[in-house]
Amino acid sequence: MTQLTRSDGAYIRRRSQLLEEIRDRGVADERVLSAIGRVPRECFVDQALRHRAYEDLALPIGLGQTISQPSTVAFQTMLLDTQPGDSILEIGTGSGYQAAVLCEMGVRVYSIERHRKLHERAKSILNELNYRALLRTGDGTLGWPSLAPFDGVLVTAGAIEIPRILLNQLREPADKNSQGGRLIVPIGDREKQYMTKVIRTGPDSYDSEKCGRFRFVPLVSG
Ligand code: SAH
Repeated sequence: MTQLTRSDGAYIRRRSQLLEEIRDRGVADERVLSAIGRVPRECFVDQALRHRAYEDLALPIGLGQTISQPSTVAFQTMLLDTQPGDSILEIGTGSGYQAAVLCEMGVRVYSIERHRKLHERAKSILNELNYRALLRTGDGTLGWPSLAPFDGVLVTAGAIEIPRILLNQLREPADKNSQGGRLIVPIGDREKQYMTKVIRTGPDSYDSEKCGRFRFVPLVSG
């Protein structure tokens, strides 16, 4: 693999321009913006596409999959509403970029990917950049029962409906004043999905809201 570097001046300048674009698109959460500002996105895309790493675009990462658009990564991270030390499960590791952003948020990151090749590639990039995330292959719609409950579950592929099993793996609120686990998942058909945020409010109760329209690669079960 080519040498990965965190300090290429040209990339750093483009990264700060990207942050302005993300801000213009309505993500005003400074913790999220500064996390994105610390992740070298050029390291997560193919060499041939590195010059486009700081355009606000999804880019191909092989096997018909994409690294999400940076403003979408920012938006999903903002909706997760994390506190340092939270336990977060990502479904769809892909390039590993979103996992790196979550690491920069100071949370414990677990991530599942169904394609072994993408999993291996993400694992080696995250290691090389010193990001600590626990990754595995498998069907993320089943969650990661042995590590549950999670303070947040982030699905980075479009689902037809809310994966029920993931709801059960959200943390219940400890008391009336504390927040339960959050599930962020794009729900819809192949063409468009509504970003959906579900919050666990009790043992059998959840609140949900729709937060804008997006287009993701499909979540594939089995
Ligand atoms: N978060 C990624 C974006 C990945 S695109 C990034 O930052 O680059 C969505 C990913 O979800 C794809 O890699 C796809 O293979 C994966 N995926 C789709 N269905 C899945 C499933 N059921 N379990 C785990 N991964 C899945």
